[in-house]
Amino acid sequence: MTAAASPELMMQPDNRNGTDMKIEADFPTGRVEVVDASDPGDIRLRVPADTGTDFLCWYNFRVTGPAGVLRRFTIENASDSLKLRLPNRENQAHQWLGAGPVASADGENWTRLAHHFDGRAFRFWHVPRHEVTHYAKFAPYPPEREAAFLDRCAAAPGVTREAIGQSTEGRRIEMLRLGSGPLNFWVIARQHPSETQGAFFLEGMLERLLTPDADARALLSAATLQVVPNVNPDGWMRGHTRANADGLNLNREWSADNPAPEVAAVRDAMERTGVDFCLDCHADNELEYVFAWASENVPAWTPARRQPFELFERNWAKANPDYIPGRAYPGGCPAEADLSMGWNWIGNRFPDSLSILLEQPFKDVQERPDPLTGWSPQRAHALGRAVVVPMAAEAARRSEP
Ligand SMILES: [Zn+2]
Repeated sequence: MTAAASPELMMQPDNRNGTDMKIEADFPTGRVEVVDASDPGDIRLRVPADTGTDFLCWYNFRVTGPAGVLRRFTIENASDSLKLRLPNRENQAHQWLGAGPVASADGENWTRLAHHFDGRAFRFWHVPRHEVTHYAKFAPYPPEREAAFLDRCAAAPGVTREAIGQSTEGRRIEMLRLGSGPLNFWVIARQHPSETQGAFFLEGMLERLLTPDADARALLSAATLQVVPNVNPDGWMRGHTRANADGLNLNREWSADNPAPEVAAVRDAMERTGVDFCLDCHADNELEYVFAWASENVPAWTPARRQPFELFERNWAKANPDYIPGRAYPGGCPAEADLSMGWNWIGNRFPDSLSILLEQPFKDVQERPDPLTGWSPQRAHALGRAVVVPMAAEAARRSEP
């Protein structure tokens, strides 16, 4: 299986309409396999698993064909992903329920589509207003946008950019450093490449820090902030759901003696600076709300470490109504934390740190839902702008004499 649509199926005559329809996924971050696209009313697709794994759910492709003609899509192997559900999620609707795909004519503005899961296949339908339409599980974050944004950040006064290591396929693991304070704050994202919410979140956070207001100035004078925007660049270029180029789930590599090079790069850089605060940005396929959790129940955990997290939650909620504090850990917090996961490993290795896991949704949120866009790049961006407030408060708390 390959990330691209099978070449022999790239051009399919649309006999019913007398015009060609073309489905393409052979671009960076693209993902789909065409089974049969000869009829716009019955376009049959499969989602290939990440190389060497059973992980699948990210899809991202472009359709060229006549506007105004109903397209009905079926992802035939959707249910294959359900055997890898996280434990204790039986009471949570799985990833294909209530999770409409998004469509866009310009790659910038994305709207949700109607959809249906029949127990095996996932179907959605659309009448395009333009000849070329993009379809994806969630708004993709184009590599060229990431490169341009990194350039813009690196050109700003007081920001340095360095490669802290190389990915499996030799791509740079980029890190931005800004601020001048003695505390070491970290924000990392995209261990799981398809969770693009983290990229939009970081744009919001960094834009505020680069045009600083009072909260941003307070944070940057109390702390030095290290940001790793994309821990898994190979996985993203391949259009993977969760794995790196070697088929490894990076968020199960942190406690290994010889972890994947992407994790080794971040871990080593953290060892050099120390960590007072870390936010690890993810997105969850099933949840219908923004969720954050401290590294509770790691061996170095003490009940006193809960208070700073609760303060962080309250301050974030004041800054953005999409953050609702006090959510329970989905399925119950494990009695023993899994130290192979980044935020737990960090919270244990740096016992005085506040280490937080962030999960944004793919689905729409239960509170303040938006039927047109669902949880969106714009909402993720706003959540990232807002996180500067609780981070500044945490830096102030740690700076108290
Ligand atoms: Zn994740």
